[in-house]
Amino acid sequence: MFSPDIAGHQAIRQRLLDRLQGGRIRGSLLFTGPEGIGKRRVALELAQREICFRRNACGQCEGCRMFAGDDLPFELPNLLRITPEGKAGVIRIDQIREGLDSTNQPRFSRGVIEWASLSPPVGCHRWILVEEAHRLNESSGNILLKTLEEPPPDTHFILVTHRPEALLQTIRSRCERIPFAPLPPREAWAVAQRNGWQEADHDRWSALGEGSLRLLDETAFRRAEAQVEAWIALMGGRPFGEAAGPLLPEKESTLAQGEQLRQPLELLLRLLADLARMRAGEAPALTPWREALAAPAAAPWDLKAPQEAALEALRHLPRNLSPEPLLREVALALGS
Ligand SMILES: [Zn+2]
Repeated sequence: MFSPDIAGHQAIRQRLLDRLQGGRIRGSLLFTGPEGIGKRRVALELAQREICFRRNACGQCEGCRMFAGDDLPFELPNLLRITPEGKAGVIRIDQIREGLDSTNQPRFSRGVIEWASLSPPVGCHRWILVEEAHRLNESSGNILLKTLEEPPPDTHFILVTHRPEALLQTIRSRCERIPFAPLPPREAWAVAQRNGWQEADHDRWSALGEGSLRLLDETAFRRAEAQVEAWIALMGGRPFGEAAGPLLPEKESTLAQGEQLRQPLELLLRLLADLARMRAGEAPALTPWREALAAPAAAPWDLKAPQEAALEALRHLPRNLSPEPLLREVALALGS
């Protein structure tokens, strides 16, 4: 995942690079945009370029080699990564303060604030990358805020999130927002092909991924596909107990149960939007499912009720401990 050939975002990358070279990046940045489109990779590139012996993230030199491999360290000479941990998937206060995770194994030797106060290697900034920044809880967010307010010289935070609305307003307002657009479908598919995807899956992979790479993993893709089909079956009146399997959380997942419902609920909203399009005589965005959607589009049921139920469920996800009744309620609103 950390190969130097990043797909897309040429304009943003060039602009950031120009500003960096001109000393015109001040304070902290907030990278927003859909999940899985390479925001984090662009953030890493900024740090990698500075540590690269050739200053271009060549991917070959000793400096770049530190950024290679799937297990990127949490601490590099000019980069500190803060990532969510544990089943709850939150960024905890002790990670910010002391650099510890819940098993008390140091992930890096110092807390963020101490790390940020050290002077950077020659010719480098110090980058603090907060991945999935929407998983900062209130107390860790507040601790971070203190450093964000007055970052030490040559230290920049980059907060990366696909859910900026879930960040504390006080944090958002202290960062410069850099919005990322989805990849053009052709660029996303080119990456997919390099990862072994075959033409037969092109239409469904592209439709479901919407210019992101989050379904690059085959299991993730097959699951999303099964979720679409489960919703369509439920719309057709199949009993919940028979059809809802793929929508329910997986026990062995690293994501919290409630968080696992986000994808199926978002897929349902996309399906409902497509049904509305088809009723208005337009083509659905999920083109490969056009035929399967024809019957529910033609049936005289209200799309508003399930849409509201899904939105309401999404609002309650962070606190939800029993996903099945929640899904059942949304499914009940289908077809009525
Ligand atoms: Zn290099």
